[in-house]
Amino acid sequence: MSTESVPAATNARVINAMTVDVEDYFHVSVFDGIVPRSRWADMESRVCANTERLLDIFDEFKVRSTFFMLGWVAERHPGLVRDIAQRGHEIASHGYAHRLIYDQTPAAFRDDVRRAKQLLEDAAGCFVAGFRAPSYSVTPRSLWALDVLIEEGYRYDASIFPIRHDRYGIPVSPREPFSIDRSGGSLMEVPGSTVRLGPLNLPIAGGGYFRILPYAWTRWGIARLNAVEHQAAVFYIHPWEIDPEQPRLQAGWLGRFRHYRNLDKTEDRLRALLTDFRFGTVAALLRVCEPAAPPEQPLTLALPYQW
Ligand SMILES: [Zn+2]
Repeated sequence: MSTESVPAATNARVINAMTVDVEDYFHVSVFDGIVPRSRWADMESRVCANTERLLDIFDEFKVRSTFFMLGWVAERHPGLVRDIAQRGHEIASHGYAHRLIYDQTPAAFRDDVRRAKQLLEDAAGCFVAGFRAPSYSVTPRSLWALDVLIEEGYRYDASIFPIRHDRYGIPVSPREPFSIDRSGGSLMEVPGSTVRLGPLNLPIAGGGYFRILPYAWTRWGIARLNAVEHQAAVFYIHPWEIDPEQPRLQAGWLGRFRHYRNLDKTEDRLRALLTDFRFGTVAALLRVCEPAAPPEQPLTLALPYQW
C-alpha cells in the first residue's frame, strides 16, 4: 500500500479508465526481429498466469477494467477471454497478430481486426466495441485505419497518443476523448493520457512511463488531470509488466531498458495506484457498450489534421 496516498477529496469524483493490453512478453514490438511470428507458438507462454494475477488484484480493489486482447491469444486461450468477461470486465481488441498499422496495407489491417473481433466475440459471447493498435501505431501515416475500424463495427479507438515519440504519436491531436465523424459513420477516439507543460504534452498514465519513471510522476499527473482539468485518465499496463521471472530476450540496449526496467516494482506500484485513484472500464467512461447505443453528448472537435 502507498504511504503517500492522494487525499480522497482531490480525485473522488473522477473515475479513470484502467486498461490492459493482453499479450505475451515475446509479442512486444521491440522483439519483432528477434522472435518472428513463425516461432510464437514454440515460446513459453506466460500470458494466462500473468493476466489471472492482474484479475485477482483488480478483484481485491473491486475494479473493472478493459482488456485489449490479441486475437492470437484468444485463439489459443478462449477460456482466458471467457474468464475475464465473466469476472465483469470489458473485452476489447488489440488486433490479431500485433502488427504495426503503418507497416500494413489497409486490406491486411482489415483482415487482422476483423479476425480479432470475431475470435474475441465468439470466446466472450459479447459485443466488442473497442480497439487499441499495437504500439499506438495510428499516426499521420495510418489515419485510414480509423475508417476501417468504423466499417468493421468498432465503436471506439484508443490508439492515438498526442505526444512526440520515436515510434508513434500525433502531438497535435486532442488530449481528451473526442468523436471522429466520417462519411461511413463515427468512432470515439480515446487518447493516451498526458499533462500539458508549456508547449509539450507529456505522457503520464501507463506502460514504460509508469514502470520506468518514479510512481510520483504518474500520481501527480493523474491527480492534476482529475482535479484541474476534470478529465479521466486512461491508464494502461501489460500482463508481462508484473512478471520479473520472464525469459530474457536479446534486443538493443534501448529496447532492453524499456522492456525489463523495474519489472519487480510494477505490482506494488499498481496496488498504490489502485489505492490512490478510482478506475472503471473505457466502455463505462464513454457509455458505449452496445452497437445500438450511441455515446451521450459526444465531444466533436475540429481536428487539426485531415486524411
Ligand atoms: Zn501491444
